[in-house]
Amino acid sequence: MTRVPEVRVSALNDQEVRSDGEYILYWMTATRRLSWNYSIDRALEHAEKLRKPLLIFEPLDVGYPWASDRHHRSIISGMNEHQKRLASLSPGYYPYIEPQPGAGRGLLQALASRACVVVTDDSPVFFTPKLTASARRLTCCRVEAVDSCGLLPIRAADRNFVSAYQFRRFLQRTLPEHLEMLPDPDPLSGAKIPSSLSIPQDITEQWHKADTQLLQAQGTLFSLPIDHSIGPTPWRGGHASGQRQLRRFIETGLPRYGEERNSPDSGASSGLSPWLHHGHISTHEIFAAVVESEGWTPSDLSHKIDGRRSGWWGMTPNAEDFLDELVTWRELGFVFCSREARFDSYDTLPAWALETLEDHVGDTRKYVYTLEEFMTSSTHDEIWNAAQRQLVNEGIIHNYLRMFWGKKILEWSAHPRKAFETMIELNNRFALDGRDPNSYTGISWVMGRFDRGWPERPIYGKVRSMTSRATRRKLKLREYLVRWGA
Ligand SMILES: Cc1cc2nc3c(=O)[nH]c(=O)nc-3n(C[C@H](O)[C@H](O)[C@H](O)COP(=O)(O)OP(=O)(O)OC[C@H]3O[C@@H](n4cnc5c(N)ncnc54)[C@H](O)[C@@H]3O)c2cc1C
Repeated sequence: MTRVPEVRVSALNDQEVRSDGEYILYWMTATRRLSWNYSIDRALEHAEKLRKPLLIFEPLDVGYPWASDRHHRSIISGMNEHQKRLASLSPGYYPYIEPQPGAGRGLLQALASRACVVVTDDSPVFFTPKLTASARRLTCCRVEAVDSCGLLPIRAADRNFVSAYQFRRFLQRTLPEHLEMLPDPDPLSGAKIPSSLSIPQDITEQWHKADTQLLQAQGTLFSLPIDHSIGPTPWRGGHASGQRQLRRFIETGLPRYGEERNSPDSGASSGLSPWLHHGHISTHEIFAAVVESEGWTPSDLSHKIDGRRSGWWGMTPNAEDFLDELVTWRELGFVFCSREARFDSYDTLPAWALETLEDHVGDTRKYVYTLEEFMTSSTHDEIWNAAQRQLVNEGIIHNYLRMFWGKKILEWSAHPRKAFETMIELNNRFALDGRDPNSYTGISWVMGRFDRGWPERPIYGKVRSMTSRATRRKLKLREYLVRWGA
């Protein structure tokens, strides 16, 4: 059993652990996986100490913004996998899918009232902070939130960072100690906990256990009050498919990552962001796979703290480039969103960016599009329309084109504030990895966050600009445009 570092655990209330409870309750909300998950490790610590069974409660609400068949299907694929796996292991599993907004109210309270302690996931964005806030009001037993977001525990960062360079320097100084205690890759197989657990009938009668198998089937989501116009994509959620994607990437993408990841036709980027977003795969698991393929040990780390993108890990340039995205850029976003409650507000852009964008609000805009025009790929630009079509149909945009996609929304909107809102709406409605800390930091990067000033240009001011011509010159787009062109 792995001991969970204290810096990853926060008490949400001041109640004690109750030794007379019936079980340890793990309320799974963001870290939706049974492996590499500090919340499970923590729940098992309690279960083994108190000799109590573990109940894993995984709910899915309907009353959240942008709830759609696409997001629901992804999460339900993971729930279905959990149901199958836990059928042969000791923890009890209680999947619950809310049939109407508010129908699940009272369920957590009912389950917690019989628990010794409630363990839940810590995550800085979207629904999770609201959920953890509601857990603070539970008075029946201790409630703990556990952070499995990244290699760096979120609370280990003592401030926000203005650039990736500044954050990298911080990581180079602080990360090594946190690499010593990774979560357990398979905590449930050998867990020494009592297995006898029956979920109280009065609870399951009021809040029916979900039939995740049935909900996987085509068409069954229609009974739920969510947006059915945003349909599922061929992408499959869950840990097993995430692991397959990871293996494919390590074998065929990582060896080309540095040179080819920017090319949409190359298939050299990992494509892992939807699994990461849904908590279906852990950044620790991805890191461990890179470590194995590189034959790396911590003694390869450089002692030089210089904030440079490459050289610090002591890995091949491809692996260093990849970890710079997975660790530096991804976790920069998590730290930012955990320390800035208004992460989704245009007004929190850096002062220099706001000033320069506002200075250029009056500039002539050759093209201005409405949300509807953007949504339906009705701009004049072939590459932009193709990227938006990929987003609508596949739920992803290749990473380099995503920057271009955002920059052009800034250029073709009547006001930068409007552009910010348009990006949030399109990204979070259609993207499988939308509603993530990196959604908000990616969108605000388009408008200057974590970047520096560039030579001044119309509309963009000193914010970095991008052009279609340069994008076409830089990227291999032939196959991409055949697939997503008009
Ligand atoms: C306008 C805009 C919107 C974005 N919206 C999202 C979003 O909704 N969800 C999301 O996860 N990312 C978002 N990003 C960041 C980035 O585009 C995606 O993480 C990346 O394209 C995912 O593809 P991949 O998994 O193949 O990445 P890879 O290149 O294989 O990188 C591995 C992982 O590193 C992380 N990563 C890579 N690039 C970045 C980056 N620039 N910033 C932060 N983390 C990064 C991701 O977790 C990614 O899965 C956005 C960027 C922009 C410019």
